[in-house]
Amino acid sequence: MPDPFPFPVDIPTLALSRGLMQMMLAGLLVYVGRRHDPDDGARWWAAGFLFNGASLFLFSITAHGLLDTIFVVGNHLALGAGSACLLLGFWAFGHQRAQPWLAALMIAIPTAALLAFEVAWPNARLRVLTTAFGQFVFLLALQASLREPPREEIEHIYRRLRVLVLVYAGVLVWSYAGIAGVLPTSARLDIGYHRALFSVASLLFMLSLAVTCLALQFALLAARNEDLAMVDWLTGLLNRRGFFRATAHADGWQGADGVASVVLLDIDHFKRVNDEHGHAAGDRVLQAVADRLRELAAPSDLVARMGGEEFCVAMPGVRREQALARADAILAHCRNTTVPAADGRDIRFTLSAGVCEASPAQSLDDVLARADAAMYAAKRAGRDRAIASMVAHEGA
Ligand code: GH3
Ligand code: MG
Ligand code: MG
Repeated sequence: MPDPFPFPVDIPTLALSRGLMQMMLAGLLVYVGRRHDPDDGARWWAAGFLFNGASLFLFSITAHGLLDTIFVVGNHLALGAGSACLLLGFWAFGHQRAQPWLAALMIAIPTAALLAFEVAWPNARLRVLTTAFGQFVFLLALQASLREPPREEIEHIYRRLRVLVLVYAGVLVWSYAGIAGVLPTSARLDIGYHRALFSVASLLFMLSLAVTCLALQFALLAARNEDLAMVDWLTGLLNRRGFFRATAHADGWQGADGVASVVLLDIDHFKRVNDEHGHAAGDRVLQAVADRLRELAAPSDLVARMGGEEFCVAMPGVRREQALARADAILAHCRNTTVPAADGRDIRFTLSAGVCEASPAQSLDDVLARADAAMYAAKRAGRDRAIASMVAHEGA
């Protein structure tokens, strides 16, 4: 005579609590996800937890006859649909191509289990084992979808989630193989004890998965906000902060040989543009300058709006003379640009530029200060011209 079931909680009660918990988590995901891009997968995740919860809910209800069959069918199909939705969520979140056949397989396996072992050859044990096999396939697919995070900042969460999925897959195999008598379970404990343990493990897994989904949403939001903080909203160029962040990167903005130049540009008499044509027209001029800078930028250049009507182009691997020639080209390009004013007139504008080549030991602040001095020299010399700083070349 085996020991009486050692847990005061029975499996249906556990399943019911799990079901309710997952439905609550689904609600939380929807609540948090409503501020997000609909393509981020949060809704699929929520649907996944909802179906999963519903499946457990149906499992925990005792019924007889036709109603029991309906609950069994609902339980299996909801479980499959839940897995399919969770996968769709991770594919959407990771910007991966959805695999419709894999999502369909998630529902096909429990359907096959029902047709074979509920209708054709009724056998509850085989039905449950086939559906458990479907869950194993789900975990493998989930593991595969976690190979590549959509952003570097999220990699650490993906890494932990991969470990979690692997551990749970191991627990699932051990548990069902134990129930099937393929793998040994402890001889001193009732098989019900193992089932209860697995039920608790599933609860913890789904809870961790939902919390991770929330963490992923927040991490993505934080990463996007950080991007926004680096970009000037009016022109789409890097802002001052983004410029310094980009130049501070490990490889450095200077080429491998330490050669680089900076061009600082300032719109001439910009205050007049605002005064004559209004602030909105001034904004369009700023956007036109940004467009010209983008058009003429080399792929490795860093182009930024440093503030107001002042722009900066960092040119890695470019020497002073070439930087001066490129500054002249930018000024000519802007000189030939017209921006429509509200009254139909064309606004024309010019810029003054200061160029400075960085010497290897020089700090970026120093290079910028020299470029700034050269730019003011260009202003004093009559504007609409580029002047290169000579001082930086001393001793080079
Ligand atoms: P200078 O040739 O000596 O550079 O003269 P300036 O008029 O261009 O320089 P000043 O520094 O006197 O004026 C800069 C103007 O730029 C003043 C400010 O209102 C305007 N400005 C700064 N940021 C923006 C912006 O985002 N939009 C618009 N429309 N104007 C801006
Ligand atoms: Mg100006
Ligand atoms: Mg200025």
